[in-house]
Amino acid sequence: MEIEKVMAYRLSKSKYLSGLQCHKRLWLEIHKPELAPPPPPGQQRIFDQGTRVGELAREQFPNGVLIEADYLNIPDAIQQTTVAINNGSEVVFEGCFVHDNVLVRPDIIQQNAMGEWNLIEVKSSTSVKEENIHDVAVQAWVLQGSELDIGRMYLMHINRECEYPDLSNLFTTEDITEPVEAILPIVPQNLSEYKFLLDNSEPDISIGQHCYSPYDCPFVGYCWKDVPEHSIFNIPRLRWSVKERLIEENHLSIEQLPVGIPLNNKQKEYVESLEQKKPIVDWDGIRDELDKLDYPLYFLDFETDNPAVPMFDGMHPYEQFPFQYSCHILNQNGNLEHKEYLHESDSDPRKSLVESLVEAIGNKGSVIAYNAGFEKGVLNKLTQWFPEYSEQLQLIIERLWDQLVIFRNYYTDYRFKGSNSLKSVLPVIVPSMSYENLDVKDGAESQVAWNVMIRLPDGGEKSKLIEALEEYCGQDTLGMVEIQKILNKSVKSRSTIK
Ligand code: SF4
Repeated sequence: MEIEKVMAYRLSKSKYLSGLQCHKRLWLEIHKPELAPPPPPGQQRIFDQGTRVGELAREQFPNGVLIEADYLNIPDAIQQTTVAINNGSEVVFEGCFVHDNVLVRPDIIQQNAMGEWNLIEVKSSTSVKEENIHDVAVQAWVLQGSELDIGRMYLMHINRECEYPDLSNLFTTEDITEPVEAILPIVPQNLSEYKFLLDNSEPDISIGQHCYSPYDCPFVGYCWKDVPEHSIFNIPRLRWSVKERLIEENHLSIEQLPVGIPLNNKQKEYVESLEQKKPIVDWDGIRDELDKLDYPLYFLDFETDNPAVPMFDGMHPYEQFPFQYSCHILNQNGNLEHKEYLHESDSDPRKSLVESLVEAIGNKGSVIAYNAGFEKGVLNKLTQWFPEYSEQLQLIIERLWDQLVIFRNYYTDYRFKGSNSLKSVLPVIVPSMSYENLDVKDGAESQVAWNVMIRLPDGGEKSKLIEALEEYCGQDTLGMVEIQKILNKSVKSRSTIK
């Protein structure tokens, strides 16, 4: 391979895929990368998880040679790859190849009995996706250009059937040779389009569904900066086909929507709420829902993790398990108690959590969750794992009451910006409560914080993370309590007026 030519490379596999998603994304990544903010902590965890999955995949090929050169030291990586191949290595991990200014580092190449090289791409996903075919196609094109005979092409992805502690079947390998070969001819066409594009000024491409599919684009902050505060993107569940039409007509504001835009009742209510600058509320509906409640009220929230590689007995890849709960208990006399559990070590948290939970939640009274389907799913899993607690857990499941239903069905407020999540609703209904100043601000951050905390020795840093996790989970349930009090008060005052 020609080292000088390599030094001038402009495209990598990930840039090729960026170009497939959106030409403007590719252009910005090359010419204005500083416009992309650093990845959020949740994203970093996905990268780290991918690294771990890659390491486990390599363990399946004990004779493989890893090209360890730094990602920035391309000539060194190419040199090491050439040496490994020339020395007769039959399996090479992270080999480095460049052809026509495109650089790829295939996860695994393995020589078959006919002397050809099979190409194996490792993914943390659980199935083959269309973007994976393009991913392998550009690698195959570069390898062919580097004069390697390519044999079959595979995607090695996570197998949901795998059950901890036996990780021997963590992966499933699917042969994707045919679909990759079918799109190979378009790789050079795409590349010449990209080269032309990159030699010219920033392409004029409008925002749309492609900004989030197949990947969240890091330039959303830049491209979406002119979207008004109250835009068509806030109309709940508005179909993308309708949004695309409005984008084309440059009508991003909710105000004065063109005639003929099909809106359902909920969407019309949202627009009306914005026009009138006030919430639209069905208080009778809310009263009927509140009448279903029995005191004491248990406000329950779980924090969970779902790692690609299962960590505890009997668990499958991506299966959710709880590591923390918060429960505020509101008695009829207005007294409020708080109970909580946070697992602080890297051992299995499930049993200790169940024991604490069944003790915290008594046999009587409604259990309020926000988006209760999630809590129900977690409780059902706990029932399967710990049948000895199934009676108590079942009793909790039967008493679940969903606060989200109020905001989904009876309370529309333009200030929720089209989302009914607790993070959107709470600061509007209870302005003194916001997630802004918390160290842990959402579920993804709580997963990251928990995974760091459990591996830390006792001390200041661990205590700080424990405090942040407890504050976050506690805020969710306290927020629900405050919302409930406001709903109760409003319903009561309206009954009095009647
Ligand atoms: S935000 Fe959308 S339009 Fe802008 S670069 Fe990304 S995908 Fe393209």
